[in-house]
Amino acid sequence: MTSPRIDVDGVDVSPDHFINGLRVASLNTFEDRSPLDWSWKLADVARGTALEADLAVTAALEAFPAWAALGVDARRPYLERLADLIDENIERIAHVECLDMAMLEESLRLRVISRGARNFRAYAELASQYQARRWSSNGTDNVVLRHPSGPTVVITPWNAPFMLSTWKCAPALAAGNTVVLKPAEWSPLSCSMLMDLVEEADFPPGVFNVVQGYGEEVGAALVSDPRVRRISFTGSPETGRVIGEAAAKNLVPFTAELGGKGPFMVFADADLEAAAAKAAVMFDDAGQVCLAGTRLLVEDSVFDDFLVRLRAESERHVLGDSRESGTTVSALIHPEHFARVKGFVDRARRHGDQILWGGEGLNDVGLWYRPTVIEPVNNDSEVVQREIFGPVLTLQRFRDEDEAVALANSTDYGLSAIIYTSSQERAQRVGARVRAGTVWVNCFLVRDLTAPFGGIGISGVGREGGDYALDFYSDLTTLQIKEGTTHG
Ligand code: NAD
Repeated sequence: MTSPRIDVDGVDVSPDHFINGLRVASLNTFEDRSPLDWSWKLADVARGTALEADLAVTAALEAFPAWAALGVDARRPYLERLADLIDENIERIAHVECLDMAMLEESLRLRVISRGARNFRAYAELASQYQARRWSSNGTDNVVLRHPSGPTVVITPWNAPFMLSTWKCAPALAAGNTVVLKPAEWSPLSCSMLMDLVEEADFPPGVFNVVQGYGEEVGAALVSDPRVRRISFTGSPETGRVIGEAAAKNLVPFTAELGGKGPFMVFADADLEAAAAKAAVMFDDAGQVCLAGTRLLVEDSVFDDFLVRLRAESERHVLGDSRESGTTVSALIHPEHFARVKGFVDRARRHGDQILWGGEGLNDVGLWYRPTVIEPVNNDSEVVQREIFGPVLTLQRFRDEDEAVALANSTDYGLSAIIYTSSQERAQRVGARVRAGTVWVNCFLVRDLTAPFGGIGISGVGREGGDYALDFYSDLTTLQIKEGTTHG
């Protein structure tokens, strides 16, 4: 059973799953609405259940032996063709993702969707460059072999769904695994478009599947299926725990890239203008960015100066329709998420934290929340300790490097950190003491796809990126051959 394709503002999209190379509808659907105008229903999307989860894992299992046996070099053209098709379709994907999650269309078009293509190209190349590690010890020659591990479930969140999904699916496929992807129910459409390109790139049926639906329904069925050999998740720490338990039950290797509450440290020797401009970038996409540095920590002696500059930068922001190029702050994804962000700020106000500016929605109807900066009563305030995932920053001062590091490391999270300083020595010193998977100095969001990526504490389990990801999606075998074993 297949549903009619739908017209999403001029772009043709399937609301169905993609299983074993075919579009598959479900008995039930869920509504997908646009955060730009909540009365605008974009689609009724297939609402998967345990049945579709089972079909998709079965397809991935059956496709696995042939895909694995192809080898890295024969798999490479599929991934490269998919990358080319993504590049050819950037405008269409960017437009739909903008309508679906309100991310700024210009940045989707210029950077985010093309990163999806880069993900496939990078892993196609890296996988085929792999040189088995070899060394001699204890009278044996050791060789580390990578084998594809099997059907892989990838579960992704609603922010930047296309880019984040391809970041995980690309290494899994390059390593020789087959994939079942479940995108988030709040922004399901761009991953459905990816499946049109998978079909066009002629992937064998069952190698790359998408099921749509709610996490507690189809997501839970996927991660508890004992035939699945890898689970890769991006989302909140709360869901990460639930999926981790399911993975543990079946003893399945699992990685999780989870929430963040990154410190943004500004030392007195920093270029304050650059630091304030970058701090205001944290409001882009309404702050719905896991890696954002949302806790501003500023050295006492430059605190007032920084505050004035930050306010000026913050006032430059334009809240509006994400399709328009002048807009810099998008709407929040969903009324429930708007209520969550508002709840944090309202509780902070009652708690005695000082709202320096912002602290309210733009109007009574839309999902826009004003860029907000809060000076908390102390470091225990909820707005300091918990991820808000909205355009809300906290601002605290520190006296010296030790206090800066102590504050930076004072939450349960450890995804990313940002340091502004003009001193190379300080950058090295503080960078080594901050507890975070990624530390940026005088920059933000610069990524080398071969570097390890992940979080510490409740920000994640395991590492992806480069060979770290390829190792994760593979079964490693150490082959030990006694020296002197003759040829022939
Ligand atoms: P979420 O945890 O609510 O949902 C993520 C995904 O998990 C969705 O697809 C959802 O349907 C699914 N899910 C929910 N319950 C499930 C279950 N029981 N079994 C299987 N799947 C289930 O997260 P969200 O609200 O979509 O995303 C926001 C969170 O993601 C934030 O915490 C953010 O920081 C984090 N995030 C992290 C990174 C990173 O790289 N570390 C990147 C983006 C977002």
